[in-house]
Amino acid sequence: MKKILKRVICAVLAALIVLPFAVACNKKGGESLITIPAPEEKSNYVGVHDFTMTETADYLVKDGKTDYVLITKSKLTPIEQTAKEEFLNLFQAATNIRIQTKTDEGLVHDANAKYISLGETALLKSSGLPLNKSELSDDCVRIVTKDKTVYLSGGGQYGTLYSVYDFMQLTFNYEQYFVDCMEMDTNVKEKKLYNYNVTDIPDMNRRSTGYAFMTQEFKNRMRIPLYSGNYFLPIHEKMTADGKADRSSTGMTAHNSNEYLPREDYADHSKWFGDSGDVLCYTAHGDEQELELMAQECAKKVAASLMTYTTDLYPNMNAVSLTVEDNNDSCACEACTRCLEKYGTKSASIILFMNKFNGYVRQWLEENKDNELYYRENFDILFFAYNSFSLAPASWDEEQGKYVANAPELMLDEGVYVWLAMMNIMEEELNIYHAKNDRAREQIEKWGAVSDGLWLWTYSTNFSAYLYFHDAFSMYNAEGYRYLADHNVRYYYQNAQSYQTGTATAFHNMSIYLQTKLTWNTSLDTETLIDNYMNAMFKEAAPIMKQLFTSMRLHNTQLKTKIEYSNSIENASYFPYNTLKEWMDMCDKALEKVSVYETRDPELYAMLKNHIEAEWVYPAYATLQLRDDYLLANDLTLLKQRFREVVLRLGITRTKEIEAEGVLTNYVNSL
Ligand SMILES: [Zn+2]
Repeated sequence: MKKILKRVICAVLAALIVLPFAVACNKKGGESLITIPAPEEKSNYVGVHDFTMTETADYLVKDGKTDYVLITKSKLTPIEQTAKEEFLNLFQAATNIRIQTKTDEGLVHDANAKYISLGETALLKSSGLPLNKSELSDDCVRIVTKDKTVYLSGGGQYGTLYSVYDFMQLTFNYEQYFVDCMEMDTNVKEKKLYNYNVTDIPDMNRRSTGYAFMTQEFKNRMRIPLYSGNYFLPIHEKMTADGKADRSSTGMTAHNSNEYLPREDYADHSKWFGDSGDVLCYTAHGDEQELELMAQECAKKVAASLMTYTTDLYPNMNAVSLTVEDNNDSCACEACTRCLEKYGTKSASIILFMNKFNGYVRQWLEENKDNELYYRENFDILFFAYNSFSLAPASWDEEQGKYVANAPELMLDEGVYVWLAMMNIMEEELNIYHAKNDRAREQIEKWGAVSDGLWLWTYSTNFSAYLYFHDAFSMYNAEGYRYLADHNVRYYYQNAQSYQTGTATAFHNMSIYLQTKLTWNTSLDTETLIDNYMNAMFKEAAPIMKQLFTSMRLHNTQLKTKIEYSNSIENASYFPYNTLKEWMDMCDKALEKVSVYETRDPELYAMLKNHIEAEWVYPAYATLQLRDDYLLANDLTLLKQRFREVVLRLGITRTKEIEAEGVLTNYVNSL
């Protein structure tokens, strides 16, 4: 194995040394001016993660008991209720103590009382502690000790939930790695009280990723509780007679320009629609009056949704998008062409329209400021920088040494944001500073120049080969996330295996862990996180599983460099049988390393076996797909039997993003 690994390392190093020059020479010229931040200009962004805590003479737990009582409000939102349960359960997991609880009614801060106050309780309000809520976004965490009481709170209800996890991490070394894998001190009989003064603000305001197997508990614990769709008001095709959204008609949170203005409903306004393709004409063919009416009509749709999805039932829907359909169409009428010529990019017409549309929405919000069911503060209005509209209207300004908008009117108004989808523009298997990502960084910088914050959408898997290794580690490390976080990211979504059930293979699970840790705090060390993850997930097998990871990653880098990151990878010539065999053998050696638990702790052994064999699925599947002629009949039968057993046990059902239901299950059952 070592020989092979060494050969791969040499080949990869050679390729990497040559590659940047080759790419630089091939780069298409002419499109943009100076764009590339030199390596010494890498982002040095530092967020706020202050975990100040000092030991006091008092005890939180002594002789296996605690005098502390958990205090919450009497009326809790579902998220606050979850925060309370998480506190009780995790505290019990560490100490075996079910802590007493009490509501805050009639309570005021008492220098001698031993309370743990969770959320915005009367106790907190009476404590005189400044919460600085306006400075803290919803997800922020504050933990403060005053006298003998510990106050756990957040900028909002999710911050309150995360304050529980920070408290458990700081106090009992709690860490969640995967759906079924958590570490924390146990049987704690004695624990000093700490004087906490913690402020923990996520580097990216909100974060999420998609894997169908993630439970809500896991998502909460990884601080990625909501899918992007949960933040958006749906826009419905139809409105009711009293101007609310007709929920019986189609409603969409994204790719929804047809729901705003269904062509068939507005036959009298043909200027609102593109001359060709499925797209709106964002200049209304140069007719100012029609353009105002168009913006007003779109704003009416938002008002209809604001009145329908009220704040009491839908507190998280604090944004709305007006986003192009999922195609590459754009209007090419005279007015749109003039706009393109004047401002340099097609997106200019959308920006000008969004600012206008935003004005009408803000007007409505202002008029409804006193209606707490309708009014939403810090309401974001989004459009997609996507396909035809992905390029930002900004240019390099030599004097200022930065990108600036091509015209002052192209600056996004307050509350208007761009949702930047990095499809076809970012090579996510390479470092963010790699020359192949010059264009991606250029667009991020340019969009940053016309707005005061970004919504970002990136990708981290091979959508046509879920089970194969995809390098989510060269870009998605502390350095890469730090670069992204440096652009005031209001929301970050990493599009992965949204349809995968059971578990993922080829170290995708580790990329979830890294993403959730590093998008929150980009100052963490990637290698340390990887080591911690390996130790938790594989115990004694961690060293060999780390070797397996390195070997898969090197092989992938070598392969992708050779095919220039463009071809499909399910090709026999890319996967020598010996390489696949080597990887499967490494998994078997890993199983041997943990076999001691088979009798000592069968439950732990089952978990470790699942984790190891989840990584085995990738080379086993590739062998069956590409190299089954390398096995003797009997060995092939054994491999098939084992693959069927493992895949069914782990509950993996998908091989790609778009495939008919049951394809993998039918396949393994046919083996
Ligand atoms: Zn047009």
